[in-house]
Amino acid sequence: MIFSADESFALQLDAEDSLNHFRERFHLPVGADGKPFIYFVGNSLGLMPKATRKLVEQELDDWAKLGVDAHLDGATPWYSYHETLRESAARLVGAQPNEVVCMNSLTVNLHLMMASFYRPTKSRFKILMEEPAFPSDTYAVKSQIAHHGFDPGEALVLVRPRDGEWTVSAPDIQAALENKGEQIALVLLAGVNFFTGQLFDIAEITTAAQERGCLVGIDLAHAIGNVPLSLHAWNVDFAVWCSYKYLNSGPGAVAGAFVHERHAANTELPRLAGWWGNDPATRFRMHLLPDFVPVPSADSWAISNPPILSMAPLRASLAIFDEAGGMGPLRAKSLRLTSYLEFLLDRAPSKLFTIITPRAAEERGCQLSILVHEKPKELFARLEAAGVKCDFREPNVIRAAPTPLYNTFHEVWRFAQICGAPHDAEVSSGRATLLSPR
Ligand SMILES: *Cc1c(COP(=O)(O)O)cnc(C)c1O
Repeated sequence: MIFSADESFALQLDAEDSLNHFRERFHLPVGADGKPFIYFVGNSLGLMPKATRKLVEQELDDWAKLGVDAHLDGATPWYSYHETLRESAARLVGAQPNEVVCMNSLTVNLHLMMASFYRPTKSRFKILMEEPAFPSDTYAVKSQIAHHGFDPGEALVLVRPRDGEWTVSAPDIQAALENKGEQIALVLLAGVNFFTGQLFDIAEITTAAQERGCLVGIDLAHAIGNVPLSLHAWNVDFAVWCSYKYLNSGPGAVAGAFVHERHAANTELPRLAGWWGNDPATRFRMHLLPDFVPVPSADSWAISNPPILSMAPLRASLAIFDEAGGMGPLRAKSLRLTSYLEFLLDRAPSKLFTIITPRAAEERGCQLSILVHEKPKELFARLEAAGVKCDFREPNVIRAAPTPLYNTFHEVWRFAQICGAPHDAEVSSGRATLLSPR
């Protein structure tokens, strides 16, 4: 696709965008001037779908009117409420429905998964992660290592970007697996790195790690709802995600987990148990049948009965992803939005900033991380004053994440203007290659 820096071109892309009507489905926060912000922080907290309020109110109404009977007689009975999320969630991560469960929050799920899938031995006790990893993941991993009586300083293997680079190179991950694979119990990587926006080749890493006897867990916090995923086909052992970023399900939303069928159906696997992971057929016979009978699916990792009021927003959000046709069409628009942003930012004077997100579209999601060389805080303040919501990571990185459900090409154009990209017609239009979604 050939891009142009003319404002009319951005408007034309919006007019031709077959997903443009989804923007109206969301509440767009507005500034003091009454105009919507340019909301590029869907990687932090996605916007609220207008349909959400009614679905939450429905559950409040059922509680008010039916009390305990809403468990079975509510409009969407609470007893099986989580079932209504399963198929849509499975589609987003490329899983079979029995491999997916919506529960808890991300870090909690990471611990629950590690209880089953990080079972270190004297010879194989290490965990491989990328750097920088999200702090919560690092805390969780270090505490798991210590919990098993190992030394995090020795057991945590970090693959870092090379000197002068920002992203982790695939050969360096392969080299770490080659050199230390025999000692690595678990490879725990982000699908998309929160800081750089780098999308890892999950299939390739999973194969290489499993060849050396490692298990593979993926943190999809920045990947779900952002890039297409095929966890089942990639043979990933487990994955976890949160639902308040690209999934637009609200602050502290109910998160999710994937357990590959070959583990999910294995009722012998050790796990931390609670009544909601028990076979529903005997769940209420607990005092008669005190032994835990795991249901042979990812559900067996659920512990408590789910928070219905927090699950209702997920229903609203997942319905939108289904209606949009899933990640295929959304990724196609996303590739275009982000490539357009890149094209426009590249036209700014080169000393202003460096995009540290991978340049190849198949190695990133929608986010661009912009390292600002001079006066980063001033640029961020200028963006804020102009009605842009994006985020700033100390000391000098601005993350901007245009999302295909509610952002527009014209917003991308305006963002680039504020960043200092020229829009004069004398600069000829450039070329950017778009790859097919994967
Ligand atoms: C957002 C995010 C989290 C947040 O964890 P919670 O348990 O949901 O608070 C964890 N890990 C990564 C990689 C994230 O991006």
